[in-house]
Amino acid sequence: MPISPPPGRWHDVARATGLLAPDGAVAQTIFAEMTALAARTGAINLGQGFPDVDGPDYVKEAAKAAIDAGRNQYGPGDGAPELRRAIADHQHRHYGLDVDPDGEVLVTTGATEALAASILALAGPGDEVVTLEPYYDSHAASIALAGATHVPVPLTAGDLRLDAAALRAAVGPRTRLIVLNTPHNPTGTVLTRAELEQVAAIAREADVVVLTDEVYEHLTFDDAVHVPIATLPGMAERTLTVSSSGKTFSLTGWKIGWVHGPAELVTAVRTVKQFLTYVSGTPFQPAIARALADDETPRALAASLSSRRDLLCEGLTAAGFDVVVPQGTYFVVADGGHLLDRLGAADGHELCRRLPDLAGVVGVPVSAFCRAGSATSEALATRVRFTFVKREDVLRDAVERLHGLAH
Ligand code: PMP
Ligand code: GLN
Repeated sequence: MPISPPPGRWHDVARATGLLAPDGAVAQTIFAEMTALAARTGAINLGQGFPDVDGPDYVKEAAKAAIDAGRNQYGPGDGAPELRRAIADHQHRHYGLDVDPDGEVLVTTGATEALAASILALAGPGDEVVTLEPYYDSHAASIALAGATHVPVPLTAGDLRLDAAALRAAVGPRTRLIVLNTPHNPTGTVLTRAELEQVAAIAREADVVVLTDEVYEHLTFDDAVHVPIATLPGMAERTLTVSSSGKTFSLTGWKIGWVHGPAELVTAVRTVKQFLTYVSGTPFQPAIARALADDETPRALAASLSSRRDLLCEGLTAAGFDVVVPQGTYFVVADGGHLLDRLGAADGHELCRRLPDLAGVVGVPVSAFCRAGSATSEALATRVRFTFVKREDVLRDAVERLHGLAH
């Protein structure tokens, strides 16, 4: 006899992230689905964003040394002191932000926990949380976990940028948080200072907190400059800034992230975070503290990612996709609209399911970053996100395979 699914808020999470099928079946995240598809078919995995080359040896050695030195038990609740100091130094060196490592910084289990704890701390039933759309899936999941209402604001359809008028219209008396993400996953859009000033003005007028996800802060290309919204006038006191070492140092499995902001907001987040994981990653924290003093590793990664972006964008264009060239992140969004008919796929999701057979490559549909059935989801239904955080030889192979789609 089939066991009926247990009640609980997990239904809301599954629904909010598009993982609940009409027949009640529950899927894993799109990243897990597509990575499993790649593993099953032997296709090149340009779906889930993780590098195929690890971060620097000296950082790995530092973690091993910390294990050998006996840093293997629970650490301080806010995170290792040297890591909190390194985060504050990093924010000052790069952005001129003054952050007190004692009370204004909280080390978390990846950016994911920082985001979840922040949303759970500050929003609940009856509250609204505004995000851009498309959005990173965990943002929607955390809003659902909090029991709050998610109000997505579409990026402009053509060039995938902020629509400030739509944001202004979406923010109202029930808005508790505006969740930003720049550089933006999945589009690679890097919000300009002018765009961020518009967001800041809206946040100040409505007196809402901004929660900004900046995990790709160092991965920008060409002339794009990452501007933390906390650096804009009147914003430091109403902003929680989240980042993580995963992307910056190519150590996505270590899950060392952080959040910083004014002490009252960080206290609220800490209150929740300590009951999610308490603490985590004790020996990784001193290693990341060392890494954060190193500006050369992320600079070199951004430079090499920029040429790998060009390689993939050219290859996708040659294969018949229309690409919006990303200014940051690991990802490019490619429109497969011209290919779908000939390939017999109804939309980007179906194209992704068939790409391993058609071309031996895996991507993820942009609709997975949209609310099911939303206008944005429809507008972006033919778009697929591909990652270029793979070795150049792997990307060349992928591009060659994709070229077959053009004929
Ligand atoms: N935010 C965004 C926009 C991401 O793309 C990711 C995935 N790396 C995360 C948060 C999660 O980061 P972490 O692995 O540090 O939890
Ligand atoms: N952030 C990564 C991506 O967008 C994957 C993280 C995950 O699998 N949840 O591809």
